[in-house]
Amino acid sequence: MTSNFSSTVAGLPRIGAKRELKFALEGFWNGTTDGRALAQTARQLVNSASDALTDLDSVPFAGRSYYDAMLDTAAFLGVLPARFDSIPDHANDGLPLWIDRYFAAARGTAEQPAQAMTKWFDTNYHYLVPELAADTRFVLDASALIEDLHCQQVRGVNARPVLIGPLTFLSLSRTTDGSDPLDHLSELFEVYGRLLQSLDSEWVQIDEPALVTDLSAELLAQVRAGYQKLAAREGIFVNTYFGSGDQALETLAGIGLGAIGVDLVTHGITALEAWKGEELLVAGIVDGRNVWRTDLCAAFASLKRLAARGPIAVSTSCSLLHVPYSLDAEPNIDTEVRDWLAFGAEKIREVALLAQALAGNIDTAAFDAASTALASRRTSARTAASTQELPGRARGSFATRVALQEEALQLPALPTTTIGSFPQTPAIRSARARLRSGALTQAEYEEAMRGEIDLVIKKQEELGLDVLVHGEPERNDMVQYFAELLDGFLVTANGWVQSYGSRCVRPPVLFGNVSRPAPMTVSWFEYAQSLTKKHVKGMLTGPVTILAWSFVRDDQPLAATADEVALALRAEIADLIAAGAQIIQVDEPAIRELLPLREADKPAYLKWSVDSFRLATAGAPDEVQIHTHMCYSEFNEVISSVIALDADVTTIEAARSDMQVLSALKSSGFELGVGPGVWDIHSPRVPALSEVSGLLDAALQSVSPRQLWVNPDCGLKTRGWPEVEAALKVLVAAAEKARAELGAAI
Ligand code: GLN
Ligand code: ZN
Repeated sequence: MTSNFSSTVAGLPRIGAKRELKFALEGFWNGTTDGRALAQTARQLVNSASDALTDLDSVPFAGRSYYDAMLDTAAFLGVLPARFDSIPDHANDGLPLWIDRYFAAARGTAEQPAQAMTKWFDTNYHYLVPELAADTRFVLDASALIEDLHCQQVRGVNARPVLIGPLTFLSLSRTTDGSDPLDHLSELFEVYGRLLQSLDSEWVQIDEPALVTDLSAELLAQVRAGYQKLAAREGIFVNTYFGSGDQALETLAGIGLGAIGVDLVTHGITALEAWKGEELLVAGIVDGRNVWRTDLCAAFASLKRLAARGPIAVSTSCSLLHVPYSLDAEPNIDTEVRDWLAFGAEKIREVALLAQALAGNIDTAAFDAASTALASRRTSARTAASTQELPGRARGSFATRVALQEEALQLPALPTTTIGSFPQTPAIRSARARLRSGALTQAEYEEAMRGEIDLVIKKQEELGLDVLVHGEPERNDMVQYFAELLDGFLVTANGWVQSYGSRCVRPPVLFGNVSRPAPMTVSWFEYAQSLTKKHVKGMLTGPVTILAWSFVRDDQPLAATADEVALALRAEIADLIAAGAQIIQVDEPAIRELLPLREADKPAYLKWSVDSFRLATAGAPDEVQIHTHMCYSEFNEVISSVIALDADVTTIEAARSDMQVLSALKSSGFELGVGPGVWDIHSPRVPALSEVSGLLDAALQSVSPRQLWVNPDCGLKTRGWPEVEAALKVLVAAAEKARAELGAAI
C-alpha cells in the first residue's frame, strides 16, 4: 500500500536560483566547458531543488532536464525528429547519449531547422513541439530518469517522478503528415504502462493539464480507459492545472488512481460530488504562477471543507517553474509591496503552514501576518480603484487612413522594414552592466546608446531598407523597459523565470495603479529620426503583452488594468507624434498567449484585449500609420481579433509555419497591411534569395501587392551582425525582385 502524503508542490523550476543551468548550457554550447561540467550542474540543481522541500513530505522530481520537459519526454519516448538521426551519440561523460540530437532538435543546426517552439498553455513558458507522424513508433528509454531517481533515493529523498501525461503530450504535438497525433493515444498509454513499472518510487505524478481544456466525450472516455489500466500500478497521481479540475474529477475519479490534483486558484471546483474520497485529492491552493501572498485563513477554510469529504494534500496550483525562486534574493523591493508578495520559497512555506494547520497545528503568528499583509494591500492608496473617464477607441475608416498615409509616407510598393531590435552586442550589454555598477554615468550610457543608434541607422540605410528602426539598444527587455519607467510596477533584481531553454526573463510585478510620470521613448526616437530622411518607427510594447509578461495584480479585472496601461501608452504615442513620428509600432506578440483555454472564456478576453490596444492607439490621427507585431504563435484562432485591432500594418511570424497565417487572413477578407515574416530569425540560417522570393510569391497568392510588407519574423536582438546583414541583404533583394516582377501591377 502506498501511504498518502500531506504536502507538496506541483513542480519546481529547473534553471537554478542563480541561473546555473543557463550558464552551464551556454558554456557547453560554446565549448568553454565540457559535458561533465554540464551534467554535474544539472545534477546539483536536482539535489538543491529537493533540499528546498524538507518541510514537505513528497518531493516532485523531473530528473535532470537540459532544456524543456516536453523535449525530455520526446527524447525518452524515442521520438526526436528523424532529421537529426545522423548526429552521432555523445561520448560518455555523464550526459545522455542522445544529448547532441536533443540540443539539435531544440536549437537547430546549420543544415536543419529546430523543432517548433510555442507557449505552454496560457503561460509565458515555451516548450518544443513534438513532431510525430502516423507511422511514428515510440521506443522507450527512460534509463537517464531511472538513474537520477536512484540518486535521489540514495540521498533519502522521497522523490516522486513527474511525467507529462500521454493526453497532454499528444495534444501538444504536431504531425508532419496531417494525421491526428491523438491517434497514438492507446499505444502511448501502453508505453506509459511499461514506463511506470520501471520507476520504483512510491508515487509517480503524471501531469495532464490538457484535461482542463475542451475535450470530446469520446476522447475523455479513452483517457479514462487509459488511466484505468495505468492504475494497476499503485501510487499514480494525475495532476491537472491552469483551469477547472471538474473534468479531471469527472473523468478520473473512482478508477483506482492514488491521487488526483486540481488547481483551486485558476478555478474552483464545482464537480466535487464526483470525488467520493477514494483518491487523495491534491489541492492546488497556493498560486503557482503569480506572486501574491496567499490568504492563509481563507485557504485553510477551503481546505477544511475539502478535508471533510476525503483525504487531501496541500499543494501549489501548478509548478513553481513560473515564479522566481525567493524574495530573499530581492534586497531592494519597496517595503510596502514586498509584504504583499510570495515567490517560490515563500510559497513552499505557505504550503507547509497550511498542511500543518490541517494537522491541527496552526501557526497563528504566520496566519496573522498574512492577514495583515492582505489588509494593507486592500487599503493601500496605490491599489485604489481608478475613476478616470476613458477616451474613444476608434480611428477613421481604413480607406480614409490608407489614402492619407500613402500621401504622407510616400513608401515604395512592398516596403521593407525590420521588427525593432538589432543585435544586443556585448558592447551594449556591458554598457548596461557598467551603468548598473556605477562605472558609467547616465549621460555616458546614453551617449553609448546614441552611438549604437548611429550604427544601426547607417547600416539600415546602406542595406536599403525603407522604414527604419532605432534598434532598441536601450531596452534590456521589451516589457521590463516600460515597467521601469511606469508607476505601479516594480522590477526585481534576481527574479529570473525560465522562458525557454537557457533563456530567462525577469517579469516585472504590476502591483498597483499604472501611470506614466514622463515620456519613455521619445528622446531615442527623436535622435534616430534626426539621423535620416527615411521614416523611423516609434516603438512601443502593447498593453496585452505588458500584462502577459508581468505578474499582474489579481485584485481587479485584467481589463481594467489593461486600460490603465493603454492610457499611458496613448499619452506616449501623442508625444511621439508631436516629436515627428509618422509610423508607430505597438508590439503585441503575446496576444495569443493570454487566450483562455476554454471556448466559453474566449470572447470576453478577446474583447478586452482588442479594446485595450485600440484605447492605446486610437488617439493617433488618421495619417499616422499604426503597426503591430505578433509572433511565437498560431494565429488562426485569433485572426478576427488581429483584424479587430485595426492596425494599419501587422507584421507577423510566418516563416516557420510556411505562411499558414496568410490563408486564414485571405479567407477572412483581411484588407489591412500585412508583413508575414520571410526570415525565420530563430534559426541560425541565412535564407537564400530563392527561399525568400518563394515566400513572397506565396504571400502574394493570399494578399494584394498593396497590402504586403517585407520583413523578418521577429526582432533581431538575439542574432549576430554578420547573419543579420547577410539576411537583410537577401530580404531587400527579394523585395526588389518582386517589385520588378509585379511591374505595372502595383
Ligand atoms: N520590437 C520587438 C523587437 O524587435 C519585438 C519583439 C517580439 O516580438 N518579441 O525586439
Ligand atoms: Zn516577434
